[in-house]
Amino acid sequence: MTEIGKPVPQPTPESQPYWDGCLRGELLYQHCAACNRAQFYPRSACASCGATALEWRRSEGRGTLHAVTVVYRPPSAAFKPDVPYAVALVDLDEGFRMMANVLSAAPEAVAIGDRVTVTFERRGDIALPQFRPCASPGEDL
Ligand SMILES: [Zn+2]
Repeated sequence: MTEIGKPVPQPTPESQPYWDGCLRGELLYQHCAACNRAQFYPRSACASCGATALEWRRSEGRGTLHAVTVVYRPPSAAFKPDVPYAVALVDLDEGFRMMANVLSAAPEAVAIGDRVTVTFERRGDIALPQFRPCASPGEDL
């Protein structure tokens, strides 16, 4: 029987700095100086104003859940041991939004408005950002 692993993203020239950051345990995002907006996912131009002079910035990795769903049916056999698990849209404090898993012992209890902090899951040559609930109010700052 062939074991099918979890999929890994393929970095592109635009996203390579982002993935390199993840390997160092840093969550990077793009910032546009022309219109002062944060952007995620990485692109070659600002989605808001079209400027191409984008700067990489490091996020503190903390955010608030904008939306949450719980996955009960694994998308492939590789995810079978993980279900149920929570997937969320996370609004990072720097002003960008991303989708990621929320690692929690009680995925059904993960809720909109929860504060979360980033963590990285190593998958081969890639480190994938995931989030976990902030353990204490102090961690929320
Ligand atoms: Zn812009």
